[in-house]
Amino acid sequence: MNTKSEKIQIGVSSCLLGTKCNFNGTDLLSNFVKELQNNNHVTLVPFCPEDSVFGTPRPNLRIVGGDGFSVLDKTAVVINENGQDVTKEQIDGAHQFVSKLLASNIKYAILMDGSPSCGSNVLLKEEHWPAGGFKRGIGVTAALLKKSGITVFSSFDELTISNFLNSILKDFQSKVGLKDLKDFPKFKALFE
Ligand code: SF4
Repeated sequence: MNTKSEKIQIGVSSCLLGTKCNFNGTDLLSNFVKELQNNNHVTLVPFCPEDSVFGTPRPNLRIVGGDGFSVLDKTAVVINENGQDVTKEQIDGAHQFVSKLLASNIKYAILMDGSPSCGSNVLLKEEHWPAGGFKRGIGVTAALLKKSGITVFSSFDELTISNFLNSILKDFQSKVGLKDLKDFPKFKALFE
């Protein structure tokens, strides 16, 4: 008996689909995620937890003193490049994303890694403004999604996502998604 599904809904960081909601008004288009959007078996539900509370463009952000779980536990904070504490707003944006997914009974999300909101495996180092090196860690939205029972994938874990979708969907065939996060040169050293 084939128990695979016909279709799946997945939450996604809006910037990955080409929406210009990054802090500086650019997008972070992922060809892999864009191809998923065109797959008949997949419905992507986009959201930007920072644009929803800060608008775009906005000051760059960093988690200071921990990771997304620490922020939710109130042992770390989110600071913008002007030195303002925007922890409350950052958590509000995360709750909006979680509420949107739970309202549609969506159990999966693909998030842009490296972001203080959407990072699921890596974060930008807090010492480096406005851009800079990476460290391992999870962002605020990714942490809240996980705490809410939603499975989070890094957008760079293309092979993992492809294999996952192939395991649960009928006739799912990905033509892309040959690499995982650890295979990208800019992240490789963090996972050795
Ligand atoms: S907060 Fe998330 S969705 Fe918004 S621009 Fe940053 S990575 Fe993309």
